[in-house]
Amino acid sequence: MRVLVALGIAERLKPHVVVPEHLAVRNARSGRLLAQGPLGATSAQRYGAPYWVIHRGDLQAALWRCRGSDAGITLRLGSKVENFTAEPDGVAVSTSHGSQPLAARAHALIAADGLWSTLRQQFGHATAPRPAGHTAWRTLVRATPHSRAPRFRRSISGSAPTRISFTNPVKSGRMINVVAIVDDDWREPGWSTPGAPRALLDRFSTAQWHASARDLLAAGERWQKWALFDCPPLASWGKGGHAAR
Ligand SMILES: Cc1cc2nc3c(=O)[nH]c(=O)nc-3n(C[C@H](O)[C@H](O)[C@H](O)COP(=O)(O)OP(=O)(O)OC[C@H]3O[C@@H](n4cnc5c(N)ncnc54)[C@H](O)[C@@H]3O)c2cc1C
Repeated sequence: MRVLVALGIAERLKPHVVVPEHLAVRNARSGRLLAQGPLGATSAQRYGAPYWVIHRGDLQAALWRCRGSDAGITLRLGSKVENFTAEPDGVAVSTSHGSQPLAARAHALIAADGLWSTLRQQFGHATAPRPAGHTAWRTLVRATPHSRAPRFRRSISGSAPTRISFTNPVKSGRMINVVAIVDDDWREPGWSTPGAPRALLDRFSTAQWHASARDLLAAGERWQKWALFDCPPLASWGKGGHAAR
């Protein structure tokens, strides 16, 4: 958040965010509150920046609008970094845009290309991501005054035995992001595989899960799922003259 504030986009984000007042952990079976930690004003005071919840699309739209000469940021979408060579005075980067090859030179290259990073391998880290044994399901549900969902509206809540469900409001409180994580050996790549609502609900039995949690899961009509993977920590983080260690 401090970086987003420094980039000057806090005002653009404000209409889309929810400021949760607290984070709550509940007993899955009884729904009883187990622990609660303050966020809201306490976070802002403690960390010098607010704690906000936002839909990823709203964040990306704000970042897209802040590019340009004022922020000193240029975005080139649809480009793939293929390779790089560390040189004494910088780095040479080969990229492609569609079938079009592009070459670029820079002072430094930060590889932020995610879990399946190709650049990480070129740093000499050959270990492939390992399956974590869990699948995450997600959906958005409408926060209507008549549904039970608003109970979760101003908070982020979590509960567990072996399966975890958590919620947080997005779209300035109009929608609720619901995520349910289940133990699973399913390992397909990607993060938008459609999932059958019934198959998920069957994993959250009435014996183990409180009605308010099951109601929220049942309200999800369009579920998407993705297998979780993990990467061992890297021993070194850089290459070249001024590489971060
Ligand atoms: C569906 C889903 C929901 C999630 N929800 C939450 C949440 O609510 N809260 C939370 O904290 N975390 C959430 N996470 C986890 C969070 O998204 C990740 O931890 C985070 O995005 C990782 O950031 P990253 O920058 O390492 O990689 P990524 O966000 O994966 O970004 C990597 C980027 O690099 C690009 N790229 C890859 N290879 C190349 C290449 N060769 N050249 C150029 N570009 C390349 C990719 O296209 C991508 O845009 C969620 C993840 C998923 C999949």
